[in-house]
Amino acid sequence: MIPFNKPPLAGNEEKYVLESMRSAKISGDGEFTKRCHKWFEDRLGCKKALLTTSCTHALEMAAILLDIQKDDEVIMPSYTFVSTANAFVLRGAKIVFVDIRKDTMNIDETKIEAAITSKTRAIVPVHYAGVGCEMDTIMDIAKRHNLFVVEDAAQGMMSSYKGKALGTIGHLGAFSFHETKNYTSAGEGGLLIINDEKFKERAEIIREKGTNRSLFFRGMVDKYSWVDLGSSYLMNDVSAAYLWGNLECADEINENRLNTWQKYYDTLKALEEKGLVELPIIPDGCIQNAHMFYLKVKDLDERTALLDEFKKENIWAVFHYVPLHSAPAGLKFARFEGEDVYTTKESERLLRLPMYYGISDGEIETVCNIIKTFYGR
Ligand SMILES: *Cc1c(COP(=O)(O)O)cnc(C)c1O
Repeated sequence: MIPFNKPPLAGNEEKYVLESMRSAKISGDGEFTKRCHKWFEDRLGCKKALLTTSCTHALEMAAILLDIQKDDEVIMPSYTFVSTANAFVLRGAKIVFVDIRKDTMNIDETKIEAAITSKTRAIVPVHYAGVGCEMDTIMDIAKRHNLFVVEDAAQGMMSSYKGKALGTIGHLGAFSFHETKNYTSAGEGGLLIINDEKFKERAEIIREKGTNRSLFFRGMVDKYSWVDLGSSYLMNDVSAAYLWGNLECADEINENRLNTWQKYYDTLKALEEKGLVELPIIPDGCIQNAHMFYLKVKDLDERTALLDEFKKENIWAVFHYVPLHSAPAGLKFARFEGEDVYTTKESERLLRLPMYYGISDGEIETVCNIIKTFYGR
């Protein structure tokens, strides 16, 4: 059996989780949360980092921070996880999908401007597979049309675009520490990155149930009151303790994943040269984090046949993202602007291979052999 994913236990995760449990300070904003916040602020170079219960919740916080109102429009790709859209739908927004690029599966930045109307408030680029979207163009469009940019960097920890960490380029950035991502917290977890000073204070309030509790504890206000919209978006400190164990080994985890990615790439290159499959493309200026290794096959039928071969050997290769515009809720809450040239077609060709910290050379070889045998017939 080869699983699709295993959350990393790379160093002191167990020790820190026990330490946190025994500290009797296991709710939000404890010692481990503080360590993680500092690590993100130093390492990513952002104004403020706030751990949350999930990336879904970080995106919801972003929608509240931007004051998204009923009938506002938000532009994003349809090839993404439901939370990218739902966070804004919860505030009454209409989602406007545009097509993706064939090479990176990221939003096609050249299609964004045609989708802008007087109701557009924000653009939400999704850095698919931890490979950066064309952020220079996107930020330029946003500036000229006075729009906000929220980066869905759920998959992008440790990746960069032209030297800037993903998540730190737009006004706000959201990350995930779900067990399927490169770095994990016990349970689930996420992170909101604030790059625009004006959101700093309000972000803390929204995260603390709409109260000024953080300011009160820092002695900056003399009473603790209900001051705004909000919910309970704090990660508990036991989860943060696990995450801290991962972060201490962040470089080691990253290198290990990049090595695995390269081994898959080198082994499958021959099949690409014969025109049988397509391998991922990392544009110049993008440094990736090996969040996933995918290949693209001819079409849906070929993918189903290849997935069957993996299933027979008890290997968990998977596909994902049925485009949101064709989903039942997508039909209700969204529209697709322009033509769907690549979103549906490319999504049906994509297949993800097992990828996790510590996967062995033997396992990588077993996975590649299934593919080689499939195309050798
Ligand atoms: C994983 C993921 C999310 C959701 O993250 P959670 O932490 O599970 O809420 C959102 N967007 C993208 C692109 C993701 O990959």
